[in-house]
Order: sequence, then C-alpha cells, then structure tokens
Amino acid sequence: MTYQLSKSQKEIQKAVKEFAKGEFDNDLAYELDKNQEFPKKIWKKAAELGFIGMHFPEKYSGGDLDMLDNVLLAEEFCRKDSTIGSALMLSGFASECLLRFGSNELKEVYLPKVAEGKMLSGAAFAEPNTGYNLNPISTTALKDGDKWIIDGEKSFVLNAGVAGFYCVLCRTNIDKGANLILVEGKSKGIDVVDSGEKLGLRMTATTDLIFHDVQVPIGNLIGKEGNGFKQVQTFMDESCILIASLALGTAQGAFDRALDYVKQREQFGKKIVLFQVTQHKLADMATKIEQARSLTYNAALAFDAGKLDTKLACMAKMVASRAAVEVASEAIQLLGGYGYMTEYEIERFYRDAKNMEILGRNPGHLKDLISRSVVGRIK
Ligand SMILES: Cc1cc2nc3c(=O)[nH]c(=O)nc-3n(C[C@H](O)[C@H](O)[C@H](O)COP(=O)(O)OP(=O)(O)OC[C@H]3O[C@@H](n4cnc5c(N)ncnc54)[C@H](O)[C@@H]3O)c2cc1C
Repeated sequence: MTYQLSKSQKEIQKAVKEFAKGEFDNDLAYELDKNQEFPKKIWKKAAELGFIGMHFPEKYSGGDLDMLDNVLLAEEFCRKDSTIGSALMLSGFASECLLRFGSNELKEVYLPKVAEGKMLSGAAFAEPNTGYNLNPISTTALKDGDKWIIDGEKSFVLNAGVAGFYCVLCRTNIDKGANLILVEGKSKGIDVVDSGEKLGLRMTATTDLIFHDVQVPIGNLIGKEGNGFKQVQTFMDESCILIASLALGTAQGAFDRALDYVKQREQFGKKIVLFQVTQHKLADMATKIEQARSLTYNAALAFDAGKLDTKLACMAKMVASRAAVEVASEAIQLLGGYGYMTEYEIERFYRDAKNMEILGRNPGHLKDLISRSVVGRIK
C-alpha cells in the first residue's frame, strides 16, 4: 500500500505545525519535564482547536476524522516536542475502549469531556504480577445488586491520580473471563500510589492505583460481560498505531535538530555535515524514519479502510519505537557534548523514545504477535 496525503490532510499537518510552533516552548518544556508537570494550558488550547479526540465522532465533540489524520497530528506534535506532544496525545488514553465498545449513555457522558479538554482518562490494565498478556488478572469486580464492587491493584497507569475516569480490567469470576469497567477517578476507595520518578514522558503521570471496595454503577460495564480481554487486545492494537506515530514524530524531531546542528558546526576547518561519516549517519537515520513512517501510515490506512491489522500495527510500533531510540541516540552523538545537555532538547527526545518501546506492548510481545500471524497454524 502506498500513501498520498490528501489536501485536507496537508492542511491538518500545516495547522498542527503552526499550533505547535506557537505554543510548545523550549523553556516551558524544560520546566514541565523537570517538575513532572502536565502541560495543562497547552492541552486546553489544543482541545479548543479540536486537536484532542479528533478521531471521535462529532456528536461526542470530536472532528470525525480518520486514524491517519490523528497519526499526522501526533507526528507533528512530537516532532516539535516529544514530551508535550505525547502528553497531549495520551491525555485521552483508553477512551477508545469506550468509543469502540461502550454504551451510548457512557459515551455521551464521558467522551465530550475528553475531546473538550475537561477530562483525562487512563487504562488500568497491568498489575504488579501480570505478564505482558495481562494474565492472571487478580483485580475483582463482584456484582452486588445494581453495583460492581472493585478490589485490587493496578500498576503503571497513565494519567493516574488526575484522570476523570479509568477503564479498569477486572475479573468477575473465572468462568466469565474478564470485564472492562469504567471507574470515575474521584470514586471513594481509590488510593493513588506514587511510583517514583521516571526517565521519560515526564509530563504524563504514571502511578499505581489501589482499589478498596470501590462501588461503581452496574451500567459502567464497557461492552459485553466477559469480553474484557478481547476488547483490551483490540485497544492495544489500535494504540500501537498511536504510539508508533508518537515515536515517528520523536525520531523526526531528533533528526531535524541534528541536521540543523551539523550544517552549522565547524570542526577541522569545515562544516561537520561535509564529512562523509556524518552524511552516512544522516542517511541511516532518514532511512529508519522513512521505514517507520511507511509502516505507521499503512497501519493507519488499513484501520481507516475498516481493517485493524494486528500484524501491521505491531510492526509499526516495533519499527517506529526502535527508530526513535536509535535516531535520538545518533542525534545526541552528532551534537557531541552539546547533545548531552538539556538545552539542546535531544536528550529529552531520547528519554521519551525509550518509553515508547515499553508502553503498551514491549518488543518481545510485538514479535510474538507478528510471528503468530506470519507462521500461521502449525498442523
Ligand atoms: C511510562 C509507562 C506507562 C505505562 N502506562 C500503562 C497504562 O497506562 N496502563 C497499563 O495497563 N500499563 C501501562 N504500562 C505498563 C506497560 O504496558 C508494561 O510495563 C509493559 O507491558 C511490560 O510489562 P512489565 O513491565 O510487567 O514487564 P514484564 O512483563 O515483567 O517483562 C520484563 C521483561 O521480560 C521480558 N519478558 C516478559 N515475558 C516474557 C516472555 N514470555 N518471553 C520472553 N521475554 C519475556 C520482556 O520483554 C521484558 O523485557 C506503562 C509502563 C510505563 C513504563
């Protein structure tokens, strides 16, 4: 599959670029990153302009746009600033679980708040002892009249402590598998446990949550009872495309900065871009970025054509997140000592890139899923 951006997609790209240029400030980013603070003002402005939940239907305050449009948005945001861009694009993390599987009542209440920049959301799937296949889940949701009573512990929840709601993966009983249940962030009985400082994505909170007898209306079940694992896998496939686009923008942003630098810096009497070794490094970096872009756009195009292709989405995430780590690392090297300093930003891109390899699905898990599709059934 090849891609050719439409006129409206080019216009989206241009509008996002202008917004990011005007709002994403290097000094502010430095402060927010240092203090692990969410870029609240920028998020509000982005929502006002329709950049949050752009892929939601208009009736939920979205822009009714495609996955590829959202990918272009994420790419441009992270190209300008990987940490601010990621914080904005992950502000409604897991709201797609609601969008794809939730009841109309739940969607009407929560999705407009996400798109309008009034509410963050989070995915509470992982637990301290679950494997990457999210098994065994020990958080329980027991039916009690018209309520669910939730008990358990979730780890590494994005936007935890500040989210308006979480999509929580719970076990009701062994026969019925797992359920996804919407739990409001302000519900009584939720403890937010500080999980300490992290390397990258420092403008997005990541903490553990403990649920003690948290009572939730029975109607907060997302989708059909017993379908929780299936829904989470579908969401993870979709979020592989989103994370790939964050990584793609991060790689491109690190490359842009390195290219600018080597065109200006002189050593041994000439600009360092004129050394063949520098040019070969740039060629390798550009190739990795283009591979990441092709896979990410193609995974998005398949989604927009009605096929959420697990293999393609996993390949996009694996290639783009690796490209982000390698390109950002090489970009630091091209700047030498300056690359290591916060002022030149690339060290922050590098720290963020590493998280993109872990968040959602790690490379081992991605390879398991890709190889399952490539090998097929063995007789
Ligand atoms: C910043 C951040 C944000 C996150 N946000 C969320 C979130 O919002 N919601 C959420 O639910 N989770 C979230 N996570 C959790 C994330 O999805 C998990 O950390 C990730 O899936 C890996 O799981 P783990 O940390 O338990 O590692 P483990 O599963 O313990 O794996 C550790 C290592 O062992 C390897 N390994 C594990 N199993 C196997 C195997 N069977 N075969 C071979 N190798 C194996 C892995 O490749 C990995 O290198 C977040 C994590 C981070 C760091």
